[in-house]
Amino acid sequence: MFSNICATLKLVVFNLNLTMVPMSRFENISHLPISEQEKHNQELSATLSDLIKKAKHNQSTQEKFYQLELYFLQSTSLLTLFSRLLTDLCTKLELELVELKLVDNNQKTQQLVADIYGQLEFENLEYFASDEPVRQLYDNPIEIKLSQDSELIGELFSFSNRKVYSVAMLPLMRENTIIGSIHLGSHNKQRFVPGLATSFLEHLGSIIAICIENAITQEQFKLLSLVDLLTRTKNRRYFIQSLTKEIARTSRSCAPISCLFLDLDHFKQVNDTHGHLTGDRALQSVATTIMPLLRKSDVLARFGGEEFTIMLPETSKNAAMEIAERIRKEVSEISIVDDHDNPFKVSVSIGASTWQPSKDDNLTFEQAQNYLISQADKGVYMAKESGRNCVRFVE
Ligand code: GH3
Ligand code: MG
Ligand code: MG
Repeated sequence: MFSNICATLKLVVFNLNLTMVPMSRFENISHLPISEQEKHNQELSATLSDLIKKAKHNQSTQEKFYQLELYFLQSTSLLTLFSRLLTDLCTKLELELVELKLVDNNQKTQQLVADIYGQLEFENLEYFASDEPVRQLYDNPIEIKLSQDSELIGELFSFSNRKVYSVAMLPLMRENTIIGSIHLGSHNKQRFVPGLATSFLEHLGSIIAICIENAITQEQFKLLSLVDLLTRTKNRRYFIQSLTKEIARTSRSCAPISCLFLDLDHFKQVNDTHGHLTGDRALQSVATTIMPLLRKSDVLARFGGEEFTIMLPETSKNAAMEIAERIRKEVSEISIVDDHDNPFKVSVSIGASTWQPSKDDNLTFEQAQNYLISQADKGVYMAKESGRNCVRFVE
């Protein structure tokens, strides 16, 4: 009987990896007097009930972490994953602060995020151009760090002045490379104490690293299908999708929406004279000249070849004409140099259209979309006929 209890306890201790319970407790004591054996027996029973309590606690912690990991794994976009990591994690683990530092060589991830979401900022997300500053947060070998060291904590969480008294720093590793570091800050000094079991946190760190890497890869694929890689503007598909969405929104808000169609003038000649690669650079310069002239909600797309389209939500005819004129002027002022250092200029013909939903206007969404596109397209032809390098609005 006694040896059975011992065997069970040994198994429980072993399985739970409860290293604080010395195995000497389970040595054979049949040589001891009965009273000693009973005392020992009571101690063991107490240990057993303590272990069961710990096991239950472990199980519920495990369940909580398991749910959390699933929550991250089910993120369908980088935006969702970021908001789950940077906002929800804090609530779910009852933390004071969370911060994420990401290694972002050549600003690839930042560019990716900007291309897909435009400006997207989380105060507790920081990018680093190399892995060195992230590496330096850890000792060698890089492993999870629990600390109550106020000096160390003082170097973290600089985005907030909320007080953190203990921290768990999880290195995010992929194939022996550090891709980032996530820091869980607690107001409770006893929450993350050095020497505490860290297996759940380690597992969480691995899952987060996988999720981040996966989400970035997924977004890269998504981007390939929505962005024009030469000019880094959106492509035709994205433009049509956004226009459809915006028209539905506009018809509810009754705000005007405008469209600009841009066609570079005599571009065939530009290629013929300066070469196709210089022509490509000219297209890039046109795109980078136009981008800062637009608002966040506007959409600039390369519709095809040397043609661009711009969607201007909540923009009247007059405002659209002003923007179009500014774009025309700035494009005509770009100075481009070909491979033989010969400078040359480009110009653009622009067609503009506006749709203002009203009670008597019973166009379907599709008709409204076709109207905006066909009128702006007609505008381009009129601008070409008028000698190019000008803007024409078509009612
Ligand atoms: P127009 O003023 O009437 O618009 O004259 P255009 O020469 O611009 O018009 P056309 O449609 O005859 O020629 C368009 C040119 O744009 C031909 C094509 O080589 C060039 N083009 C289209 N896509 C690209 C591209 O990706 N890179 C480069 N370099 N050129 C391109
Ligand atoms: Mg054309
Ligand atoms: Mg052209």
